[in-house]
Amino acid sequence: MLSERAKKIKPSPTLSIDAKAKAMKAQGIDVVNFGVGEPDFDTPEHIKEAAIKALRDGFTKYTPVGGIDELKEAIIAKFKKDNDLEYEKDEIIVSCGAKHSLYNIAQALYGSGDEVLIPSPYWVSYPDQVLLNDAVPVFVKTYVKDNFIVSPDALESRITKKTKALILNSPSNPTGLTYDKRSLEAIAEIALRHDIYVISDEIYEKLVYDGFEHISIASLNKEIKKKTIVVNGLSKSHAMTGWRIGYTAGPKDIIKAMTNIQSQSTSNPTSIAQKAAVAALTGPQDFTSMMRTEFDKRRRFLVERLNAVRGVSCIMPTGAFYAFPDISKLYGKKAGSRAINSSLDFALYLLEDAKVALVHGDAFGDDNYIRISYATSMENISKGLERIKEAISGLK
Ligand code: PMP
Ligand code: GLU
Repeated sequence: MLSERAKKIKPSPTLSIDAKAKAMKAQGIDVVNFGVGEPDFDTPEHIKEAAIKALRDGFTKYTPVGGIDELKEAIIAKFKKDNDLEYEKDEIIVSCGAKHSLYNIAQALYGSGDEVLIPSPYWVSYPDQVLLNDAVPVFVKTYVKDNFIVSPDALESRITKKTKALILNSPSNPTGLTYDKRSLEAIAEIALRHDIYVISDEIYEKLVYDGFEHISIASLNKEIKKKTIVVNGLSKSHAMTGWRIGYTAGPKDIIKAMTNIQSQSTSNPTSIAQKAAVAALTGPQDFTSMMRTEFDKRRRFLVERLNAVRGVSCIMPTGAFYAFPDISKLYGKKAGSRAINSSLDFALYLLEDAKVALVHGDAFGDDNYIRISYATSMENISKGLERIKEAISGLK
């Protein structure tokens, strides 16, 4: 018999859809994959070289659980330079991807019955990681009219004596929207007044557009820094999804607990991936700017064309690499005998009939939307858009 815990959760829908699209491709089916959120660029050469050198040097053994000093120093320098945040080494832990960082936080922080506030739409793993730790996800709905920014009043109305933390994600997956300083200040004020932790997932920090400046909520003042646990990683900024390096900065006691948990579960993140991460953080950053420029072009191309499709409306995202169009006007229509009444119906219709993979909004907590990852070539975006247009014109 499986544990109650295992029965409470589902597989990551983003990874499942990616697996399905890749399996169709392997069968020779020409699928356009807008499913997974992972840069389509290869990891830069100088980062790969650092890993190759580490291998050749025999850097292939266990390292300290929370990461090598050299990497912690590079992370500390990054926080200082990019976020105006000062940390010591015992306030940093490196884990096997930001997903693992978030999981360690959940293990270190949540007790049975604790409530965790999650603005919705949310990234797929937040609620399930809360459930895996016997805590309760409490969703706070956000709306496109507010740029999907959580309203301070709505947030406060969901706080109870059991509220332990809030998970904040800016730039956001799936909406692509970003929190400005004023919204962060309002949230920080509420978190401090109610003494709740803010888990700030900033993994898309480098991918912001239209001159938007990313600000870490932890940098607003000394008090909120003490209540904030910042999560970041190399997956999106340096096209390193497969290397599995994420990191956390926060209060010493939490970092220590996370390190103990990590010591009993995965031990250290891969030795050679840590060396690669040092090269990524300390080397030239022009790759990240190149990627951002390219994503920016695709973002405008995709969103302008989506808005020209009948029944689709899409807010212009300011960060990450996702477009999050509202498709609810198409509900109630049919393609032959296939009825489209939900985001999943629509996503399945697109996958099976139009050979376009994307993620249904329901997976992120809002059934009126779909998520399109534009971390794919302009050619694929054009092809996918044509297919989507044609599929929608087939709905009566
Ligand atoms: N947070 C968000 C919002 C994400 O989109 C992702 C991407 N998978 C992660 C965390 C985890 O990234 P990784 O584990 O690859 O570092
Ligand atoms: N963050 C990516 C996404 O949302 C990767 C998939 C995952 O880790 O779930 O598509």
